[in-house]
Amino acid sequence: MYLKKYTSFLLAALILICFSGCGQEKKDKKLYFVDSEGNPFAQYDGEIGLSDMSYFGFADIALKEAVSIIQRQKGLSETEAARFLKNNVYVETTLQKDVEEKANISFKNVIGSNSGFAITDLKGAVLAAGSSSETENYANYPTYAGSTIKPLSVYAPGMKKGILNWSSMQKDEPIKYIEETNSPWPTNADGKYSEKNISVSDAIANSTNTVAVKWLKEIGVRNSINFLEDNFGMDFSLEKEIIKETSQEEVLGNVALGYLKSGVTVQDMAGYYAVFANGGNYYEPYTISRIMTENGNVVYEHTDKSKTVISSETSYIMNKLLQRVVSPLGTGKDAYIEGGKIAGKTGTTDGNSDNWFVGVCPSYSCAVWHDNGASDTNRSPKVFKDIMTNFVDISAGEYPVCDSVNMEIYCGDSGKIIGENCELSEMGYFSKENTPEKCSSCK
Ligand SMILES: [Zn+2]
Repeated sequence: MYLKKYTSFLLAALILICFSGCGQEKKDKKLYFVDSEGNPFAQYDGEIGLSDMSYFGFADIALKEAVSIIQRQKGLSETEAARFLKNNVYVETTLQKDVEEKANISFKNVIGSNSGFAITDLKGAVLAAGSSSETENYANYPTYAGSTIKPLSVYAPGMKKGILNWSSMQKDEPIKYIEETNSPWPTNADGKYSEKNISVSDAIANSTNTVAVKWLKEIGVRNSINFLEDNFGMDFSLEKEIIKETSQEEVLGNVALGYLKSGVTVQDMAGYYAVFANGGNYYEPYTISRIMTENGNVVYEHTDKSKTVISSETSYIMNKLLQRVVSPLGTGKDAYIEGGKIAGKTGTTDGNSDNWFVGVCPSYSCAVWHDNGASDTNRSPKVFKDIMTNFVDISAGEYPVCDSVNMEIYCGDSGKIIGENCELSEMGYFSKENTPEKCSSCK
């Protein structure tokens, strides 16, 4: 895989510093990483030491984040920052050991391939992060997002701009035929086209690729990229190069179907999806709460910084749309819990080389990824469900209420508000300014 593989590089660099840079007098000095309750779970004296490897996924992310904080804050190189850290004694993290331990049990019981997960609260604090490997950190492994990108790259920005709403329709049909092979593009997961109009809500629940790509064309690829870069800091530099050399058309699949050149990690995805549970505010995920010297001087302290990326109306409606994915009829049905309030999205890539589920409940966000090593290839929704039910009461709590969104009955044929002659009635959620007109096309 061409994507980043720097885990072992950083650890190797840090080990090198220890052998070359530490003086004899500092030999027994150690930096401690503690969880959110002050219990040590890792040491660092040039290399990260773990008595329990089940914390590897989290500790690896926390060490890199601590190094990068010190680099930024003190204007140091990576090597200098690592040396500085080694001479300090205390890093407070957001780890919740009980969550990590419970999540790891569910995770390791089910997954049989390369896999990772991350759990955050709705303000970006990473409570747990795990990897199936003790050498490669799959909790910090950028890969293709597949269809889990659609709510972020297509439906949320489309709704934000008033281009689409719950019941807006697009025909499910090929958009073009690939010249060399004369094969239709894009393909849906089942390889079929219904040739019917599909509403936004059904296209999300069934993960219809054609409809997502058609909406992206209407929104504009550049507009979607700007939305993702400006709000989430995502990296589309490679796609922008392709656009410059060819056309926006060439990256439709990258942006609408999640074949992002720079990849995303489970931690990234958990952070992005929190906007669908907290009223539309993005908090960048973090693992470090505080860094202190041995004299108790605070070198760094985390403060919450958020950006409103979508309105509370859009967040509310997107949440309701994503709850349909987890209904018994949606692609995420394996994550369904009776009485639960899970809102989430599945994602796969060609050949099922990536399998995702990212979802939220009223207090947490969680992303699960695995590659195609397992014989049962669609495991992520089930693992998500196991992880969540193991540490939290899924039916507890409420999402933010939004009084300016109304439930409406609409015509299943036109997607407009139900009229006297309409035969097919459906229910959806609409903001006041983005409610369709009354249907007049049914006679
Ligand atoms: Zn009608």
